[in-house]
Amino acid sequence: MSKSIRIGTAAGIPVFLHWTFLLIPAYIILSGLATGSPVFGMIADLTFVTAIFACVVLHELGHALAARRFGVRTRDIILMPIGGVARLEKMPKHPREELIVAIAGPAVNVIIASVLLAITVPLIGVDGLMTPTSLGTSLVGKVIAVNLAMIVFNMLPAFPLDGGRVLRALLSLGMGHLRATRIAAKVGQTMAVLLGVAGLFVLYNPMLIFIAGFVFLGAAQEAEAAETEASLEDLHVGDMMITRFDAIPAQASAVWALRFAMSANKHELPVVSSGQFEGIVRIEDLAAAVAEEQPEISVGQLCHRQLKLVRSNETVPVAAEHLQASQFASLPVVDAFGHLEGLVTRDAILAARRFGSLLVTLPPSPLRERPDELRQHLTRMQIV
Ligand SMILES: [Zn+2]
Repeated sequence: MSKSIRIGTAAGIPVFLHWTFLLIPAYIILSGLATGSPVFGMIADLTFVTAIFACVVLHELGHALAARRFGVRTRDIILMPIGGVARLEKMPKHPREELIVAIAGPAVNVIIASVLLAITVPLIGVDGLMTPTSLGTSLVGKVIAVNLAMIVFNMLPAFPLDGGRVLRALLSLGMGHLRATRIAAKVGQTMAVLLGVAGLFVLYNPMLIFIAGFVFLGAAQEAEAAETEASLEDLHVGDMMITRFDAIPAQASAVWALRFAMSANKHELPVVSSGQFEGIVRIEDLAAAVAEEQPEISVGQLCHRQLKLVRSNETVPVAAEHLQASQFASLPVVDAFGHLEGLVTRDAILAARRFGSLLVTLPPSPLRERPDELRQHLTRMQIV
């Protein structure tokens, strides 16, 4: 996030401000100075921008906290001039959960607008908000209007807006994820074209044209992601797992394994004993053992054993889900006898996403080498 500034943490989630966001206050101050408008006018405008910005953070927090209820973490929240993004680690697959997560953002704006209306209307009436007599009431009126606009805009049934996700989730309940995504993407792109035409020929609004382009591309991306995800359903772990890798024999010493890991540029290594999978050892664990003057302790005593394993006949999305939940960078693939057959890594999944359809038709990897062969090789070299 080099182009973003971390401005704080909300509910344990880091909040970043994209640098382009700073163009807004810069514009207010510079145009204020250029036109010689009064200082309190500029302060009112800056307060308004800050209030909108707070509403956007709360909107994104709505998504993030709803996702948290379903066990999905949020990496961060990024605020940009055209809106915010809560970057969820994944979108809940279950339609009902996706529906709740998508609707939670606009629901926050409904709450903000309702609370502000409930406070101000009894005091000054609707007319007082429509034709404000003070900077304060004008500010509250504008904040309410922006929240109402955020609800309407976000609920447009077009990816990647919240409304698009709501539509997809509702359709998914009846027809499955892929078909629902295809239809929702088509609806979104049609909406984008209509928005673009309206911006270009009716409202003469360049911002609307920009948003239409953003929505059009977002919908295409979402449809493509769903197609790839669906094609992965047919691909098995055995078709894409890494079969050329180094494993450390369980009886190897910590100091030897540390040297080996560094020379092979590995941060973690699977540990085997006669081909039997034992666990995964991290370079930090090895370094800690050496630092604590236990260089001869065996890797078998240091490795992590409580791990999720997969079989080669499992589908790729299942493995991807296990890997996502794992604290390790690789997921071991073992056979019925507990022998380590391969590894699934993020890179391997990315490759499967790109070349998945090709991989299904390929003959099995000719490059399989059992890790115990590596051990024998290392023994021959007399380095264990
Ligand atoms: Zn949203």
